Amino acid sequence: MGQQIRLRVIRSGRKTLALQITWEGEAVVRAPYLASDESIQRFVREHLDWLVRHTAQNREKAARKAPPFSEDEIHRMVEDTRQFLPALIQEYSERLQVRPGRITIRNQRTRWGSCSSQGCLNFNCLLAQAPDQVRRYVVLHELCHLKEMNHSPAFWRLVASQMPDYQRAKEWLKTEGQRLIERLG
Ligand SMILES: [Zn+2]
Repeated sequence: MGQQIRLRVIRSGRKTLALQITWEGEAVVRAPYLASDESIQRFVREHLDWLVRHTAQNREKAARKAPPFSEDEIHRMVEDTRQFLPALIQEYSERLQVRPGRITIRNQRTRWGSCSSQGCLNFNCLLAQAPDQVRRYVVLHELCHLKEMNHSPAFWRLVASQMPDYQRAKEWLKTEGQRLIERLG
């Protein structure tokens, strides 16, 4: 009762209606260009249970104070990160035409990645728990430092050239990401 769900409608060339919770927890209706407002409203009403359940789940997940990660969990995250990171580093190194040095992965409470003046990159194993887009952003961010060491406007232009909506990933790190960091005892 009295619960509000914010819903965004995205129209495209698709043929059918679909309801989706994005990785940021936002409820989205995907609709064909020509779908009438009425048909969209009807579709949402028909799927209201699903929508309420999923958004409620997201809220609960966010509200629940998760326990600290165990040694085992951290170990597994380091292993997972070791699996997916090289391909992303290679992809963005090629795009940016840079050559990173040594790559290390560890659990750290302070940052998601870092880049030394010698070009050595360091990544947080918590990336194992992050959505693909956030992993990509962190890799891209650190690799951009091989060209621009500081956070100058030129640096952010370089990031945006490869990921125009990088702000969404930054926002995720500030909210969801911070919650993960707090679980590193
Ligand atoms: Zn930076």
